[in-house]
Amino acid sequence: MSQMEDLCVTDCERCPALVDSRSRIVNGVGPGDADLVFVGEAPGAQEDERGEPFVGRSGDVLNDALRDVGLARADVRITNCVRCRPPENRNPTSDELDNCEGYLQTELDRIDPELVVTLGKVPSERLLDRSVAVTEEAGDVVDARIGDSSRRVLISVHPAATLYDRSQRETFTDAIARAADLAGVRETDGGQTSLGDY
Ligand code: SF4
Repeated sequence: MSQMEDLCVTDCERCPALVDSRSRIVNGVGPGDADLVFVGEAPGAQEDERGEPFVGRSGDVLNDALRDVGLARADVRITNCVRCRPPENRNPTSDELDNCEGYLQTELDRIDPELVVTLGKVPSERLLDRSVAVTEEAGDVVDARIGDSSRRVLISVHPAATLYDRSQRETFTDAIARAADLAGVRETDGGQTSLGDY
Protein backbone atom coordinates (compact mmCIF):
# COMPACT_ATOMS: atom_id res chain seq x y z
CA MET A 1 0.00 0.00 0.00
CA SER A 2 1.37 3.45 -0.93
CA GLN A 3 1.75 6.20 1.64
CA MET A 4 -1.08 8.12 -0.03
CA GLU A 5 -3.47 5.17 0.11
CA ASP A 6 -2.48 4.63 3.70
CA LEU A 7 -3.87 8.10 4.51
CA CYS A 8 -7.28 7.39 2.94
CA VAL A 9 -10.47 6.40 4.73
CA THR A 10 -12.38 4.09 2.40
CA ASP A 11 -15.22 2.81 4.55
CA CYS A 12 -16.71 4.62 7.54
CA GLU A 13 -20.28 5.00 8.78
CA ARG A 14 -19.76 6.68 12.13
CA CYS A 15 -21.90 9.73 11.30
CA PRO A 16 -25.38 8.58 10.19
CA ALA A 17 -26.54 11.98 8.88
CA LEU A 18 -23.37 12.41 6.82
CA VAL A 19 -23.52 8.88 5.46
CA ASP A 20 -26.99 9.80 4.14
CA SER A 21 -25.90 13.14 2.66
CA ARG A 22 -22.54 12.22 1.13
CA SER A 23 -21.85 10.78 -2.31
CA ARG A 24 -18.42 9.65 -1.21
CA ILE A 25 -15.77 10.08 1.46
CA VAL A 26 -13.50 13.01 0.54
CA ASN A 27 -9.97 12.31 1.69
CA GLY A 28 -7.05 14.70 1.81
CA VAL A 29 -4.93 15.23 -1.28
CA GLY A 30 -1.27 16.05 -1.70
CA PRO A 31 2.08 14.57 -0.76
CA GLY A 32 2.29 12.22 2.19
CA ASP A 33 5.42 14.10 3.33
CA ALA A 34 4.20 17.67 2.77
CA ASP A 35 5.75 20.48 4.84
CA LEU A 36 2.52 22.45 4.69
CA VAL A 37 -0.94 21.03 5.48
CA PHE A 38 -4.16 23.02 5.02
CA VAL A 39 -7.17 21.96 7.08
CA GLY A 40 -10.69 23.05 6.18
CA GLU A 41 -14.06 22.30 7.70
CA ALA A 42 -15.89 19.77 5.54
CA PRO A 43 -16.52 18.95 1.89
CA GLY A 44 -19.11 21.07 0.06
CA ALA A 45 -21.20 20.13 -2.96
CA GLN A 46 -18.41 20.30 -5.52
CA GLU A 47 -15.94 18.52 -3.26
CA ASP A 48 -18.51 15.78 -2.67
CA GLU A 49 -19.09 15.46 -6.40
CA ARG A 50 -15.41 15.42 -7.37
CA GLY A 51 -14.02 13.60 -4.35
CA GLU A 52 -11.38 16.25 -3.62
CA PRO A 53 -11.20 18.99 -0.96
CA PHE A 54 -11.16 22.68 -1.88
CA VAL A 55 -12.21 22.59 -5.52
CA GLY A 56 -14.54 25.12 -7.18
CA ARG A 57 -14.27 28.82 -6.41
CA SER A 58 -12.73 28.43 -2.94
CA GLY A 59 -10.17 26.08 -4.40
CA ASP A 60 -9.36 28.61 -7.11
CA VAL A 61 -8.68 31.28 -4.46
CA LEU A 62 -6.41 28.89 -2.57
CA ASN A 63 -4.62 27.83 -5.76
CA ASP A 64 -4.07 31.48 -6.75
CA ALA A 65 -2.60 32.34 -3.34
CA LEU A 66 -0.29 29.34 -3.54
CA ARG A 67 0.79 30.31 -7.04
CA ASP A 68 1.61 33.83 -5.79
CA VAL A 69 4.29 32.32 -3.54
CA GLY A 70 5.59 29.96 -6.21
CA LEU A 71 3.76 26.85 -5.05
CA ALA A 72 1.55 24.44 -6.95
CA ARG A 73 -1.46 22.86 -5.33
CA ALA A 74 0.31 19.51 -5.67
CA ASP A 75 3.12 20.77 -3.40
CA VAL A 76 0.92 20.92 -0.29
CA ARG A 77 -1.50 18.68 1.55
CA ILE A 78 -5.15 19.76 1.69
CA THR A 79 -7.65 18.04 3.97
CA ASN A 80 -10.70 18.65 6.18
CA CYS A 81 -11.86 18.15 9.78
CA VAL A 82 -14.67 15.89 8.56
CA ARG A 83 -14.51 13.86 5.36
CA CYS A 84 -18.19 13.66 4.44
CA ARG A 85 -20.45 16.44 3.22
CA PRO A 86 -22.98 17.68 5.81
CA PRO A 87 -26.57 18.09 4.57
CA GLU A 88 -27.41 21.58 3.24
CA ASN A 89 -23.76 22.49 3.84
CA ARG A 90 -24.45 22.98 7.56
CA ASN A 91 -21.52 23.05 9.96
CA PRO A 92 -20.45 19.64 11.23
CA THR A 93 -21.77 18.89 14.71
CA SER A 94 -19.38 18.41 17.61
CA ASP A 95 -20.17 14.67 17.55
CA GLU A 96 -19.25 14.50 13.85
CA LEU A 97 -16.04 16.43 14.50
CA ASP A 98 -15.26 14.02 17.35
CA ASN A 99 -15.97 11.01 15.14
CA CYS A 100 -13.60 12.14 12.40
CA GLU A 101 -10.89 13.64 14.62
CA GLY A 102 -8.84 10.46 14.79
CA TYR A 103 -8.48 10.35 11.01
CA LEU A 104 -7.14 13.90 10.90
CA GLN A 105 -4.79 13.26 13.81
CA THR A 106 -3.45 10.13 12.12
CA GLU A 107 -3.02 12.02 8.84
CA LEU A 108 -1.04 14.76 10.60
CA ASP A 109 1.03 12.26 12.57
CA ARG A 110 1.99 10.36 9.42
CA ILE A 111 2.81 13.51 7.43
CA ASP A 112 4.43 15.37 10.35
CA PRO A 113 4.39 18.76 8.56
CA GLU A 114 6.38 21.87 9.48
CA LEU A 115 3.15 23.86 9.71
CA VAL A 116 -0.61 23.32 9.79
CA VAL A 117 -2.86 26.08 8.39
CA THR A 118 -6.46 26.24 9.54
CA LEU A 119 -8.81 27.62 6.89
CA GLY A 120 -11.70 29.30 8.71
CA LYS A 121 -13.39 29.28 12.07
CA VAL A 122 -14.40 25.63 12.45
CA PRO A 123 -10.96 24.06 11.92
CA SER A 124 -9.27 26.87 13.86
CA GLU A 125 -11.47 26.39 16.91
CA ARG A 126 -11.28 22.63 16.63
CA LEU A 127 -7.51 22.37 16.44
CA LEU A 128 -6.82 25.14 18.96
CA ASP A 129 -9.62 24.02 21.31
CA ARG A 130 -10.76 27.57 22.02
CA SER A 131 -12.87 30.26 20.47
CA VAL A 132 -11.05 32.06 17.64
CA ALA A 133 -11.75 35.48 16.08
CA VAL A 134 -10.45 34.37 12.70
CA THR A 135 -10.24 37.74 10.93
CA GLU A 136 -8.42 39.38 13.84
CA GLU A 137 -6.11 36.40 14.42
CA ALA A 138 -5.39 35.54 10.77
CA GLY A 139 -1.66 35.09 10.27
CA ASP A 140 -1.02 34.34 13.96
CA VAL A 141 1.01 31.23 14.72
CA VAL A 142 0.33 29.23 17.85
CA ASP A 143 1.46 25.92 19.29
CA ALA A 144 -1.39 23.42 19.63
CA ARG A 145 -1.68 19.94 21.05
CA ILE A 146 -3.23 17.76 18.33
CA GLY A 147 -3.57 14.17 19.42
CA ASP A 148 -0.28 13.20 21.01
CA SER A 149 1.76 15.80 19.15
CA SER A 150 2.57 19.47 19.54
CA ARG A 151 2.14 21.33 16.24
CA ARG A 152 2.67 24.83 14.90
CA VAL A 153 -0.62 26.13 13.59
CA LEU A 154 -1.19 29.27 11.52
CA ILE A 155 -4.72 30.67 11.59
CA SER A 156 -6.27 31.82 8.30
CA VAL A 157 -9.63 33.03 7.08
CA HIS A 158 -11.45 30.62 4.76
CA PRO A 159 -10.75 31.30 1.06
CA ALA A 160 -14.52 31.59 0.45
CA ALA A 161 -14.55 34.64 2.75
CA THR A 162 -12.61 36.53 0.07
CA LEU A 163 -15.40 35.90 -2.44
CA TYR A 164 -17.98 37.70 -0.31
CA ASP A 165 -15.71 40.36 1.17
CA ARG A 166 -12.89 41.62 -1.05
CA SER A 167 -11.18 43.22 1.93
CA GLN A 168 -10.41 39.69 3.16
CA ARG A 169 -8.36 38.95 0.06
CA GLU A 170 -5.19 40.57 1.37
CA THR A 171 -5.69 38.98 4.80
CA PHE A 172 -5.85 35.59 3.13
CA THR A 173 -2.93 36.03 0.74
CA ASP A 174 -0.76 37.48 3.53
CA ALA A 175 -1.53 34.44 5.71
CA ILE A 176 -0.63 32.03 2.91
CA ALA A 177 2.62 33.89 2.21
CA ARG A 178 3.53 33.77 5.91
CA ALA A 179 2.70 30.06 6.01
CA ALA A 180 4.96 29.35 3.02
CA ASP A 181 7.79 31.29 4.68
CA LEU A 182 7.40 29.51 8.02
CA ALA A 183 7.23 26.08 6.38
CA GLY A 184 10.33 26.94 4.37
CA VAL A 185 8.66 26.18 1.05
CA ARG A 186 8.29 29.61 -0.53
CA GLU A 187 9.81 30.05 -3.99
CA THR A 188 11.16 33.58 -3.69
CA ASP A 189 11.30 34.22 -7.45
CA GLY A 190 7.86 32.66 -8.03
CA GLY A 191 9.39 30.60 -10.81
CA GLN A 192 9.51 33.66 -13.04
CA THR A 193 12.50 34.82 -15.01
CA SER A 194 13.49 38.44 -14.38
CA LEU A 195 14.55 40.73 -17.20
CA GLY A 196 17.99 40.79 -15.60
CA ASP A 197 18.49 37.21 -16.77
CA TYR A 198 18.48 38.17 -20.46
S1 SF4 B 1 -17.27 12.38 8.61
FE1 SF4 B 1 -15.51 11.05 9.13
S2 SF4 B 1 -16.19 9.86 10.92
FE2 SF4 B 1 -18.04 10.72 9.93
S3 SF4 B 1 -18.74 9.11 8.51
FE3 SF4 B 1 -17.40 10.50 7.35
S4 SF4 B 1 -15.35 9.58 7.45
FE4 SF4 B 1 -16.60 8.63 9.07
